[in-house]
Formats: sequence, C-alpha cells, structure tokens
Amino acid sequence: GFLITISELANRMSVKKNKVVEIITQLELNNISNDILDQETAQLISEEMGYKVILHLDNKTEFLLLKNRNINHIQKILPRAPIVTIMGHVDHGKTSLLDKICSTKVVNQEFGGITQHIGAYSVFTKNGKIIFIDTPGHSAFTAMRARGAQITDIIILVIAVDDGVMPQTIEAIKHAFLAKVPIIVAINKIDKSENNINHIKKDLLKYEIISEDFGGETMFIPVSAKTGKGLKNLLQAILLQAEMLELKSDYEGMATGVVIESFLDKGYGPTVSIIILEGCLKKGDVCICGMEYGKIRVIHNENRQEITKASPSMPVLIYGLSGLPRTGEKLIVVKNEKKAREVSIYRKFKLREKEFLSKKQKNIENLFQNL
Ligand code: GDP
Ligand code: MG
Repeated sequence: GFLITISELANRMSVKKNKVVEIITQLELNNISNDILDQETAQLISEEMGYKVILHLDNKTEFLLLKNRNINHIQKILPRAPIVTIMGHVDHGKTSLLDKICSTKVVNQEFGGITQHIGAYSVFTKNGKIIFIDTPGHSAFTAMRARGAQITDIIILVIAVDDGVMPQTIEAIKHAFLAKVPIIVAINKIDKSENNINHIKKDLLKYEIISEDFGGETMFIPVSAKTGKGLKNLLQAILLQAEMLELKSDYEGMATGVVIESFLDKGYGPTVSIIILEGCLKKGDVCICGMEYGKIRVIHNENRQEITKASPSMPVLIYGLSGLPRTGEKLIVVKNEKKAREVSIYRKFKLREKEFLSKKQKNIENLFQNL
C-alpha cells in the first residue's frame, strides 16, 4: 500500500480538508499522526464520504482514483418510495392508523400491506409504494437524529379530532422542523365528530403549520382508523408530497442504509433490519455498521424471503454482522474487510473507554457525597 496526506486526499475528492478531518473524527480514527494516511485508512475515509475507490497500478506506483459515487457513470438514479413515520400524541390513533393501512388489503384490493414485523412496512397502492416505519415514533426518531441519521421523508402527524393539539403533537412538530421533514396532518377519529377540524387548523397556525385552505401548504386529511374512511386520501396525499420532494437515489453503487431495529435470532444470530438509502446492497458485501462489521451472509425481504440484492427505500433483514448495532446507526458497504474489523474494534474500545471514564467520574462523585 501507499501513503497519502490528508490534504492530498481532500484534493482528490475536491472537498475541504476540514471535511476529511471531520470524517476521521467521526470514524474515531484519531490515532492518525502526522497528517499521513495509509492506503487502507484513506480508502475507508473516502468510501465513508461516498467515493468509489479505484486502485490503479501505474509505473509500479499505486494510485488512488476517487470517483464521487453520485457522479459515477454506472450510476442509475431513479425515484424511490417515500419513507414515512407516524407521530402524534398518545392515544390519538397512531397504531390503529398503521394497522388499518396495512390490513386494508383484505377489505379493499386497491392497497394493501405486508404484516411481517421488521420495523417497517411496505404498502402498495396502485400509484406507488410507501414505506411506513413502525417504531415507537418519538424515541426512534430521537435516536436516529442523535446518530445523524435521517430516514424519514414525510411525517404523518396524527391528531384526534376530539382531543386536538396536545403536548406530544407539539413535540412531533418540533422534531419535524428540526429535521426539515414535511408534515401531513391526519385528523383522526372523524367517525366520532368532524366539528373540531377548523379549530385544530387554527390552533396549528401558531406552530406555522398552515393548511391549504388557510393559504398554506400543509395537507390536512380527515381520517378514521376505525372505519377506514379517508385512508385512501391519506395515501394519495403522501404520494403527492413525495412527488414534490422528488425523492431519488442511486440504484447501482455501494449501499448505505440505516438501522431500524436489531435483535438476536436463535438460528441466524445477530439480525438487523435496515432501510437502504443509496445503492445496491448485495449478498456477500462487507459493511461497517456502528461498532459492528461483517460480511452479509443472507438478505431477507420483509416477507422473510431470501433475496440477493436490495435497492433504495427497501426494508430488509441482514445477517452476518458481528453484533447488534443500535437504531439509527448507519450502515456502509466497504471493500476492505480488514479495515472494517479494525474500525469496529476501535469504536468498541472508544466506547468502553468512555463508559469507564464516566463510571470513574460517578465513583468520585459518590465518594465526595459520602464524605
Ligand atoms: P396511539 O397511542 O396513538 O398508538 O393510539 P392507538 O392506535 O392505540 O389508539 C388509541 C385508542 O383510540 C384505541 O382505543 C383505539 O381503538 C382508538 N381509536 C384509534 N383510532 C380511532 C378512530 O379513528 N376512531 C375511533 N372512534 N377510535 C379510534
Ligand atoms: Mg401506539
């Protein structure tokens, strides 16, 4: 392998040196000295930054050719399905709404979902597919944001018509604003009454959620999770919003994704459900995922059928990671298994060090308290 300076690496990617340093810190590779990177480290960093690395042998010298994954000629940019999170105050009907959307298949052939639990559901409508994230809204959203992950394209804000705007409604609005994710308001429980809808619209004005009939851009869809009324309109609204967002991803490059859930399966070992953000995830790919790494042995779709490839917005289960990454952890495919292992070990070490230090700190505090 060869050596390259941080500045030179930044140059070849046409990014600022700071950006590279940021990634080095993020990857916790702070054991780098003298600004000089070895080949594997340089490769890891550039891959993390979304570059495709091509090694060239030229006059017996190895060169690192970097290509932005996003401008690669083999790239295939195509629309992808919107990823939706349902949020709102407790008991306003989040779970009921998702259940109804996913089970309506039986009642109404026009759309239907799949009910295998992997933390996300695909719902097929005749106008396109929608992915619903089914993790307890707020906590998962916070966990994702804490790790810099963003997988939600649209937030459905559920408000029960008979209860109106409540504390967790406002909290959800804050989440949406911080993450810059558009909101569609679903006024639920309209089987009880429809009287309060205008009042809710007025209430939301002070949070800058302005309905279309008030001159704003937010869609308000009256629904009933109980009777199913309005659900078709809600799905329509989601697809309309998605169209405006022009959601697109590369379907060919090395994949990136975000962890929704992870658990230990008796037969398969560490099992991780992820949503693909970019690229094509293939069986046999090596990836880093938080503190874990591994070669993907098996990919399952949400029906638990084995597949060999997964494309953007698809929720899949993967097997083969060294352990259980946390919700919101990023998955990135890399070429180099050895480096993936090193990063994993290093990240684990760093975490243990942090835990040890905070424990030590607590012990000292306790000691003083007991004096
Ligand atoms: P979550 O806490 O937001 O997930 O709310 P749930 O889905 O658990 O619903 C809370 C309660 O409201 C349950 O008793 C539901 O049966 C009821 N509920 C949900 N949606 C509707 C609806 O559209 N109409 C009526 N009448 N009740 C509903
Ligand atoms: Mg619920």
